[in-house]
Amino acid sequence: MINEIFQLQYHSLNEAVHTAFGNDAEICKTDPVHGGDINNACRLSLSTGEKVFVKTNTINNSKFFITESQGLLALKGTGTIGVPKVLGTGIDEQRGFSFLLLEWIESAPRSKNYWETFGHELADMHRTPLPRIKEPQTAAYNQREQRPSSFFGTRGQPSSRYGFWEDNFIGSNPQKNLPMASWIDFYRECRLVPQIKMAEHYLDSRLRKKMTYLLDHLDSYLREPEFSSLLHGDLWSGNVLCGNNGKAWILDPAAYVGDFETDLAMTQLFGSFPSAFYSAYREINPIDKGFEERRDLYHLYHLLNHLNLFGRTYLGSVAAILNRYVS
Ligand code: ADP
Repeated sequence: MINEIFQLQYHSLNEAVHTAFGNDAEICKTDPVHGGDINNACRLSLSTGEKVFVKTNTINNSKFFITESQGLLALKGTGTIGVPKVLGTGIDEQRGFSFLLLEWIESAPRSKNYWETFGHELADMHRTPLPRIKEPQTAAYNQREQRPSSFFGTRGQPSSRYGFWEDNFIGSNPQKNLPMASWIDFYRECRLVPQIKMAEHYLDSRLRKKMTYLLDHLDSYLREPEFSSLLHGDLWSGNVLCGNNGKAWILDPAAYVGDFETDLAMTQLFGSFPSAFYSAYREINPIDKGFEERRDLYHLYHLLNHLNLFGRTYLGSVAAILNRYVS
């Protein structure tokens, strides 16, 4: 895994395709894939018969894809759940875009036990001992100011840290991942505070006061988890695809190490997965009763992010959560 990210960085889309499929592989057909929020997505058909998935954005936004590929590599590194293989990332100066090239996941009907298997696999992912996850040696990672010496722990000792190798993105907004020993501090400083600062102009003085109260008393609402988990970070149904093995593949992560309850909360923000998913999940990773009390606070981060990304329509949901926790 040494320098894996570097090895996966290319100067053109063709170079990435040739490295993955051989020099004879040419892109014959490009079909748009719909459903994403941020990037252009396409299915590429190659002369060798293979299909690949590519996302593109402006050259200035190449950081989206570097951080996404790191998240995908970390999740895939757990070996627990379907995650598309990263084939390459880079800047194609000639075509004027940055890109992320991934294994193509062919959609197929769900297997009979789809939700049970998904529940088991996600719980396995959340329980993966962090030292098993290998860190990519990227230049950005090595240069970061507060780089932890052994973020995911060493010699089999689980680390209790929260954060990630690098900051990444939630949608197109920045997501801070400064390593911290306390989950509650991490959730306050790296999740709520940056979004609240961004959303300040939406909040009247009453809501601002409530936000301040909530931040100051966060330790009375949240708890320090028994262990830290690698998270998908943006696990709503639009980021899950059923592949042709009939199982769930998780896509488009905003990965970091945190409290597994935040991933579960995200599955319930816009509707919910069926109960079979949660029952199966619990068989491997028990969910504390207090989760239901904490869930809205974990929704708050994503709702603030939606407020900042998409505007005022989300203000009512943000205010409702604040009013629920702070009288
Ligand atoms: P965005 O970053 O713009 O939100 P997504 O990663 O969500 O884009 O991808 C856009 C669409 O492409 C989604 O609807 C998803 O189902 C599909 N998709 C994503 N990754 C793959 C893949 N590896 N294979 C096939 N389809 C994919």
